[in-house]
Order: sequence, then structure tokens, then C-alpha cells
Amino acid sequence: MADLYTVDDALTRILASVNPLAPETVPLESVLGRILAQDVIAPTPVPSFANSSMDGYALNASDTTGASQENPVKLAVSMDIPAGKAPETDLQPGTAARIMTGAVMPHGANAVIPVENTDSQWSALDPTPPHEVLFYSAAQPGDNVRPVGEDIQQGATVLKAGELLRPQEIGILASLGIAQIPVVRRPRVAIISTGDELAAPDQPLRPGQIRDSNSYTVAALVTTYGGIPIRIPTARDTLDDVRHRFREALSHQPDVILSSAGVSVGAFDVVRTVLDELGEVNFWRVNIRPGKPLAFGHLEQVPFLGLPGNPVSAMVTFDVFVRPLLQKLGSRPDDTQTTTALLGEGLKTDGRRTYLRVRLTQENGRLVAHTTGTQSSGALMSMVLADGLLIIPEGMTVVTPGSELPVRLLRWMNIS
Ligand code: AMP
Ligand code: MG
Repeated sequence: MADLYTVDDALTRILASVNPLAPETVPLESVLGRILAQDVIAPTPVPSFANSSMDGYALNASDTTGASQENPVKLAVSMDIPAGKAPETDLQPGTAARIMTGAVMPHGANAVIPVENTDSQWSALDPTPPHEVLFYSAAQPGDNVRPVGEDIQQGATVLKAGELLRPQEIGILASLGIAQIPVVRRPRVAIISTGDELAAPDQPLRPGQIRDSNSYTVAALVTTYGGIPIRIPTARDTLDDVRHRFREALSHQPDVILSSAGVSVGAFDVVRTVLDELGEVNFWRVNIRPGKPLAFGHLEQVPFLGLPGNPVSAMVTFDVFVRPLLQKLGSRPDDTQTTTALLGEGLKTDGRRTYLRVRLTQENGRLVAHTTGTQSSGALMSMVLADGLLIIPEGMTVVTPGSELPVRLLRWMNIS
């Protein structure tokens, strides 16, 4: 008799068997969606030099005291500072430097007056600055100047190990001149489907055959949770073929091996023989619906999970057991979202923890969950139509309409 576990026990055992993966170094253009493996300390301040935030004139604010529309102050223009060039001299007292947005503030200047507050008319056709300028407003020290370190102080910890790299974090790394990034390695996951009845989507169906959908849903889930799926061709129900495919899976040096089907009573003899040859795998009965049969162990030290064959069971057990496993391996935070909803209809269960596929609607200001038609563990449309998985706790056999229960939202999207 296979061991019987609660969902939580089974998950605890699975998670205890793995450690987060080591870092690898990846070029900046490839780190979107990856997890940072080390803190990032700013090697330089940003900006690294004081610069102008406006097109205008850099000057010493005290030279414009009292300037107004009626009483403008006139200064000679002694320098011209475009973006991307360092000024060659200090600003002479009592003069102004024409300066572009982002250009270096010259020594001797402490403020910028925007061109709009002067009598200057800049034209792309005439790039030479005027000899003198009238200023219609007075500047305060610091006006329109971005000081050194305004965004980032040198030595500051700007990003922490474990952070998800989004476009904005990538911009910060670029700003700091960091082009090679230590990130957590993505788990490599070998995926095997087993069964004589399975035909690939692009192959003709022989009588009695069905399409292999599990290797596609499981591969897509692996990608969704930051892993690298490696699909192995379907194993026929013969000892030789199953052995051959599992060996092929191991040859890819995966961090996890997943199989679907072949773990339920009656089905697993062939698979079990091979698993026993290659490692140590236990067959579990988990108090979960859908997805009671589950196999877990190691094949040549690689963690192995045998998921049930029914397409909904394979997806739900992936969500409950494999997703947290990949999150631990990849050091990814659990970003799943849970809400609560009132069950729209009454139902009975057999006391296993049940994951119902539900649609969520707002009714009289409350979130109500309706099951998505047939809840057969083979009916994949129940997943397509679902907004979430409503969880009926173990032991609750009669659920009355209006019961308030947790719902795990299904918001899967590609993050890598
Ligand atoms: P088994 O675990 O082998 O008893 O399979 C349980 C059910 O899942 C059977 O109806 C199988 O035909 C179906 N099944 C198994 N593998 C797949 C797969 N890769 N894609 C779709 N359905 C499958
Ligand atoms: Mg089978």
C-alpha cells in the first residue's frame, strides 16, 4: 500500500529535498525576469557629475540677484557647454555659460536659468551662442542643477540578492556600468509523458489514441515559473522504451525530472521497474483532489516527481507541488495571489482537499465562485474557463452554498 500524506506533508517532504541553485553570470540584455544572486553596491554615484536639468545658462546665482521681467540682468556669455563634453575652464565670475540638458556644470556656477527666462532665441540653424544674455528672473543656488549622487550615492546598496529584475532594475544596472549580472540559475526540468495511447499534436491519431497535452501544459508551466523545460519524446509502455527515455532525461543533466501518467495503480508497473533501477522513488497517495497518486524520489540524485496522467490532475499537482519546488530552486518569491469567495452552489466532496476550478463574479458587492462546468480531472476546459482554484479543506464533505472559501488566482504569465 502506498503511503498516504496530507497535501502539506507531501509538500514539506518535497521541498526539504532541494536547495536553491547556485548563481551564474548573465549579460545585462538577458536578465529580464531573472533573480539577482548578490547585492549590488553602487561603484559610482549617479549622476557622477553635477549637471544641468534644463537647456539654459549656468551661472553663479548671486550674479542674478534682483533680476525680473522689468529689471533684467545682463551677463556676457563666456562658454558653451554641450552634453557629452567636459568644460575646459572654470566659469569666469560675472559671466554665464550656455549649457544643454545633462551637460556638466562648470566650476564657478551653482545654478541654471532656463532659456525660456532669457532673451535668447536658440535656433538649430545658428548654433553659435549670443555674446550676452538678459535674464528675466533671479536664480537660487541649486536651481535646475542635478547634484552628484542625486539618484544613487556611491556605496549604497541599490539592489538586494533575491530581487526580481524588471526593466527598471535593468536600467539601474546599466546606469552603474554593470554589464555582467550574477543571477540565480534557472532550474532545468526534463519532462516525460508515458503511455501507448499518446500521439503528438502534429502526428496522425491511430484508433484509440489521444493527444499528448501534458508535456505541453507542463513545459509551459515550467517556463512560467522561471524554469527551462526539456521535453523528452513520449515513452511507450514498454520496459525498454521507458528506460531509454528516463536515461535520455538524465543525460540532459536536469535539476528536476517530471513525468506524467504511469503512477496510478495498475499503470505503474513498467515505470516503477525503471524508477527502481535508476534511483529511489516512493509512490504516495496524497489527500488531494484531483491528483491523488503521486510519485516522489530521486533518480541518480536528481529530484523526480511523477504527476498523474489526467490533464487537470497534472496541472493542479504541478501548481500545488512543482511550482513551490521550482520557486525554491530558483529563489523566486511566491507571487501567487489568494482571495476568498462565496461558493455559488452547494456540493459534496469525499473529504480530500479539493481544488475546484471556478469563475469569479461580483454579485451584490461580494465575490462569488461558480464551478466551470464539469470538474472531471480529464476536462481541460475547466482550467481554460477558470479564474482560480477554490480550495475546499480536507475533512469538509458537505459545502453549503454561500460558504466562504479561499481561491488561488490563476494568473499565469511568462516571466522569463
Ligand atoms: P494513467 O496515469 O496512465 O492511468 O493516465 C490517466 C489518464 O490520463 C488516462 O486517461 C490517460 O490517457 C491520460 N493521459 C496520460 N498521459 C497523458 C498526456 N500526456 N496527455 C493527455 N492525457 C494523458
Ligand atoms: Mg498510462
